Amino acid sequence: MEHYDLSREELQGMLTQLEQALINHQQWYAAMMRSVTCKLPSDLCDLSPEAHQHCGFGQWYYSEATEKLRDYPGFIALGEVHKLMHQLAAKLLIDSQAGTLINSSDYDNFSNALERMRLEISALEHELENLLYNHDSLTGAITRFGILPAFREQQALIKRGVQSCCIVMMDLDNFKAINDNRGHLAGDRVLKASVRYMIEHLRPYDKIFRYGGEEFLLLMQHIELAACYDMVERLREGLASMSINLGEEKPIHITASFGVVLLDPDVPVEISIDRADKAMYSAKAAGRNCVRLEDSATQNASAQ
Ligand code: GH3
Ligand code: MG
Ligand code: MG
Repeated sequence: MEHYDLSREELQGMLTQLEQALINHQQWYAAMMRSVTCKLPSDLCDLSPEAHQHCGFGQWYYSEATEKLRDYPGFIALGEVHKLMHQLAAKLLIDSQAGTLINSSDYDNFSNALERMRLEISALEHELENLLYNHDSLTGAITRFGILPAFREQQALIKRGVQSCCIVMMDLDNFKAINDNRGHLAGDRVLKASVRYMIEHLRPYDKIFRYGGEEFLLLMQHIELAACYDMVERLREGLASMSINLGEEKPIHITASFGVVLLDPDVPVEISIDRADKAMYSAKAAGRNCVRLEDSATQNASAQ
């Protein structure tokens, strides 16, 4: 799963900046088209190979303000198409000033790049809004409002035979003791670190939802029960061996208990969630820090 390390305030700021960058881009476009159409001398910056870094949009894109977006595919794609759009614009400006007739395919290439750039901006905006409004601000997990639509969509795919899908209830072990012994802030940091670990180790198409305080629901797509058990077992081990530094002398460790079930396409989603919850409670009863499947016969077979 992708993880944007952005706080609520940073996301809000990023959206405002993106809006302003889009306005700057539109102003640049209007001025550039005026130069091309009226054959006016153009801004020398627009002719340079670094034009994409000098325009208002580029100044934002390459500024420190966007540092946390640098690795994300949507942001990278936006930068590439913006650069290409400037290269194509420079060609139009040069031809216009030289009095040469502008080739229709040059114009079409520019126009297509411009359209793609605007699509990439909308996609990034959509992605940032999705993070802001549909994700839990502490952990970055998807809020529980997203559970039913996502799970019902999966049920429809399972019914059409497209894939099988598992759901996993995860509950941190003895978490209350961390709050009680080290304070609520330390508890928050442990929650954040645990979800971050999960996000970084889940596959890109898996999802993690915050179900309750220290309970999370995982939606694991394209996977059978036995393979899902193995995968969750690896996640459990990894989480347990992760050191969490709370600024104290020694780092602390956290474990979690997991209940894994197949998402049943023929019963309401809530029933599958309840089964995953029961499996998770069997893991608690078995001593915590372990994974249990819904069916006890299969569970014993897989656990040995
Ligand atoms: P078990 O192993 O049986 O799950 O024990 P537990 O201590 O993890 O479970 P319990 O349900 O007793 O306690 C969960 C605690 O999680 C209680 C609640 O105050 C705390 N909690 C819930 N949400 C948050 C949060 O956002 N931040 C912090 N710091 N604590 C939270
Ligand atoms: Mg717990
Ligand atoms: Mg709990």
